[in-house]
Formats: sequence, structure tokens, C-alpha cells
Amino acid sequence: MDYRYVDTVLLTHTHLDHVADLPTPAKARLLDGHDTFTVIGLQGIQNVCDALFVVDDLAERLTISVREPPAGADPFTIDDLEIERAPTDHSKPGYEYQFDEQVTTAGDTAPTEPVCSLANGSDVPVHECTYPDGTEAPGHSTPTALGELFTDVDVDRILLTHLFPRDGTARR
Ligand SMILES: [Zn+2]
Ligand SMILES: [Zn+2]
Repeated sequence: MDYRYVDTVLLTHTHLDHVADLPTPAKARLLDGHDTFTVIGLQGIQNVCDALFVVDDLAERLTISVREPPAGADPFTIDDLEIERAPTDHSKPGYEYQFDEQVTTAGDTAPTEPVCSLANGSDVPVHECTYPDGTEAPGHSTPTALGELFTDVDVDRILLTHLFPRDGTARR
């Protein structure tokens, strides 16, 4: 998809590495002549957006809509897109999302049964794999721990993301 047409961003959680880039697609939309941008996230996302969209006066130049889906794990919709979700196991509250039963993305999380269960059957399960084997990784995943949990899951492959360089103790 052409980045200029991204009008809505859905966040898995509010850690810096997952929100710091939000002004960039918003500015791209503005420069392309659009005047709206939507962020959907968790509780507290309004404060995050208030801080981020001060940059370049984006909050004044764009109509930025911020939406918090209801608490809990019930499905919700964005326009006509049905989104299932499962809570993640991380140092900040977050969700794994599944779109139209095809694509599942977990954000930051330890490998857990609810996350694994939601990914089951997805055409494209995307899962973080932050740290290598042999390291402590609370709130994150390692290859072996992820593989063990997904052993009985009906997916052909898992797309790994969020691969950190590793040179010391694991941090959240
Ligand atoms: Zn995180
Ligand atoms: Zn992260």
C-alpha cells in the first residue's frame, strides 16, 4: 500500500519503539492533501498522541482521531474490518490482533497460550522474537520458547519480527 493512503494506525502497546514514528505517516498524509489521521490504541493513548503530534503542529493541521477499543478481549471493528484480539504478556498492557482470520500480529509478548491460540490457522502469523536462545527474556520471546509453544499450531510458517541486537541483560 502506498504510505500516503495509510489513514489509520492500530497500536499493540505504547512503548517508545512502537509509537515514536506515528508523526511520520501523519505528516505524509498532510503533505498529500489529506486532513485526517486516526490512531487506535490502548488506555492512555490520548496522552501519547497529545505529546507526539505537537511536532510540526500536526495536531492543529490535521484532525487526529484517537480511539480506545473497549477494555477486555472482545472483538471490535475498524470500518468493515473485524479484529479479534488476545492480551499479551509484556511489561506494558498490549494485544495481539487478528484481521479477517488471516493475518495475526502479536506485538511484544512472551509466548503464551492465548497468543498462540489466536494465531492458530492464520495465513500469516507475525510474532516477535526479541532475544536469542540462552538469554532471559521476560515479556519477550526466544526462538526455542516460541517454537515449543507453536509445535501443534496449524500454520506453515511464522514471520518473526522485533529482533533486537543482544549484548547484555534483557530489558523490557
Ligand atoms: Zn514493548
Ligand atoms: Zn518493542
